[in-house]
Amino acid sequence: MPRFKRTLFVSFLACLIICDATSIDSGKNNKEDECNLPQEVIDDIASYASDVDKIIDYFVRGPYKGKTFESISTFIDKFGSRLSGSQVLEDSIDYMLAASMENDLENIHTHQVEVPHWVRGEESATLLKPRIKKMPMLGLGTSIPTPIGGITARAIVVKSFEELDALSEDEVQGKIVVYDQPFTKYGDTSDYRSRGASEAAKKGAVAALVRSITPFSIASPHTGSQKYAANVRKIPVAAITLEDADLLWRIQNRGEEIVVNLSMSATQDTKMSRNMIADLTGSDSPNKIVVVSGHIDSWDVGDGSMDDAGGCFISWVAPIALKTLGLRPRRTLRALFFTAEELGLIGAEAYEEDHNDQNDNLNFVMESDSGTFAPLGLRYEGSPTGACMVKELLKLFSSINATELLLERPGSDITVWTKQGIPGGGLHNDNGRYFWFHHAEGDTLNVLDSDVIDLNAAFWTAVSYIIADMKNDIPRD
Ligand SMILES: [Zn+2]
Repeated sequence: MPRFKRTLFVSFLACLIICDATSIDSGKNNKEDECNLPQEVIDDIASYASDVDKIIDYFVRGPYKGKTFESISTFIDKFGSRLSGSQVLEDSIDYMLAASMENDLENIHTHQVEVPHWVRGEESATLLKPRIKKMPMLGLGTSIPTPIGGITARAIVVKSFEELDALSEDEVQGKIVVYDQPFTKYGDTSDYRSRGASEAAKKGAVAALVRSITPFSIASPHTGSQKYAANVRKIPVAAITLEDADLLWRIQNRGEEIVVNLSMSATQDTKMSRNMIADLTGSDSPNKIVVVSGHIDSWDVGDGSMDDAGGCFISWVAPIALKTLGLRPRRTLRALFFTAEELGLIGAEAYEEDHNDQNDNLNFVMESDSGTFAPLGLRYEGSPTGACMVKELLKLFSSINATELLLERPGSDITVWTKQGIPGGGLHNDNGRYFWFHHAEGDTLNVLDSDVIDLNAAFWTAVSYIIADMKNDIPRD
């Protein structure tokens, strides 16, 4: 995009964040930075400065330096990827239960939930015309298989749903629809992955291929879940690489016929799995709960180090570190590992449904599931006063440059609570490269950095401690 347009666009984005922040922070008053927190709240938050420094020191220079990464490494090398419904996922949960006991956490238990078990099996996508090329691909979670031998059909490439809509049914009937949509934002672009198959099926397509949802690729396909619309014929769907989607688009633009064979043998059933819970029981108001969380399941490609072992482990070490440091908060700090996030927040939704009698006591819910690159601050959703309190406590993290508050959706699993107005925070980190590795073979331990994990663990532990311990609850307004 031209420079001036980019500037305008950046200003627009900045306005989305800052202009919004102004109106939320100040309530009826439009003056920026006007939070009007009572002085006693400000003083209470400020009183945690020495605890914050103590926690940072413990992780970054002290006895826990390198330990979080070491725990992740041991876990990842032992189990690898942890697909929903797989035995290895259950084994990894058992391992974390035992490790939680060894580390003297409290109220350690699991919560049973039925989860989808989708197994991709053998699969391939081959360009047959105008030349033969094996295309790296990954079937999308919950896709049906193709018949044995696959589907061989002409392909038609579109850049958007609008382009597909503009085609007649005759033009799409019996073909494989290829989506070559550009990557804009994950939330928007992943729409093609979620409903690409059903949209193509409505027009009579026999299968769909979706350009992987990533801004960058070295010929890597990226998987993810998709959802069939009700009352629409189900067709097989897979992700192909950015490179191949663009290639097919160029071939079509030259007026050449494209023929592809797509072969998939995916199966699906259901299995029992578990969410895992481990607490540091509150000293004063044990019924009040602050959650730190991540999801323990992963896709079957890569080993899920980034998505989401990193997020799980910084949540898991928070209560352990606090206990070791003798910092038991007033409220209970609950580490929650959700199962089957990748297949559609299955674990989180079941947990919320079975524990909604505790919702009134949930003071704050935190989730780390968008990378553990250098911490920058928090993404927050909730009451304006809560935003002011969080903004105030982030001032204590200037030594590690993690003071930024973004007013945006903080997580995926915790939306089961934030959508009800329960305040939540997500780890805001320098994750510009997150989608390079996301849901792909490249999501391995090499994405993580031990020193950066220490910073995240320190930040996550200290933030959750302050919120679990400070005199005032984060209000819901
Ligand atoms: Zn995730």
